Amino acid sequence: MKKVVIIFGPPGSGKGTQAELLARKFNFVHFDTGRYEENLLYAPGALKDPVLQRERKNFDTGKLCTPSWILKTIKQATEKIAQSGQNIVYSGSPRTMFEAFGDSRHQGLIALLNKLYGRKNILILKLNIPDKISIKRNSERWVCSVCGLPLLARARIKNCAFCGGKMRKRSLDNPEVIKIRLKEYRSRTFPVFQELKRRGYKIQEVNAQKLPYLIFQKISEIIQQI
Ligand SMILES: [Zn+2]
Repeated sequence: MKKVVIIFGPPGSGKGTQAELLARKFNFVHFDTGRYEENLLYAPGALKDPVLQRERKNFDTGKLCTPSWILKTIKQATEKIAQSGQNIVYSGSPRTMFEAFGDSRHQGLIALLNKLYGRKNILILKLNIPDKISIKRNSERWVCSVCGLPLLARARIKNCAFCGGKMRKRSLDNPEVIKIRLKEYRSRTFPVFQELKRRGYKIQEVNAQKLPYLIFQKISEIIQQI
């Protein structure tokens, strides 16, 4: 049976890294919402579509994209992945109660996943790290300006080991912005995790202070049990 993994955790807890590891080792499709939206909005011809034009304006001016539009695009992408018969791992969705559970007019992502994959094949993972470490990790983060591959500051390398692109700091990783992102996570995303727990979904919490490969060993054991 095909599986779904939804990873929760504050910025800097290593959601993207663990999702990439699942993709490489267990053939999951890694669905990164932020990157997906960016690709949609910057695709050639995107500005000919009035809806994409509106959302691109939000995106470029630092405003949030329209929630119902985001939910629709996540669901469309999810349906395509499910139709192709693949496992899926989310490292940035659902971010809000609306994305997860929808409202009277919109079906949420969780209801769709229940239908496409079956409730018992959904695993919720939560990566736990203290705020102090979240802030420290993010403020030390350098990413490749071309492929987006992150590198630990300790490595002090100017060019990406994968593609040779120049390493850069992202504006969303400066300490003030991280504090806002942490607050957003606590007030908007964490309640989604709590609600899934309340509804009896399979939940695993992992101490994410260790090195990524050690965390992944733990996740691998859990994955093979479901
Ligand atoms: Zn690169």
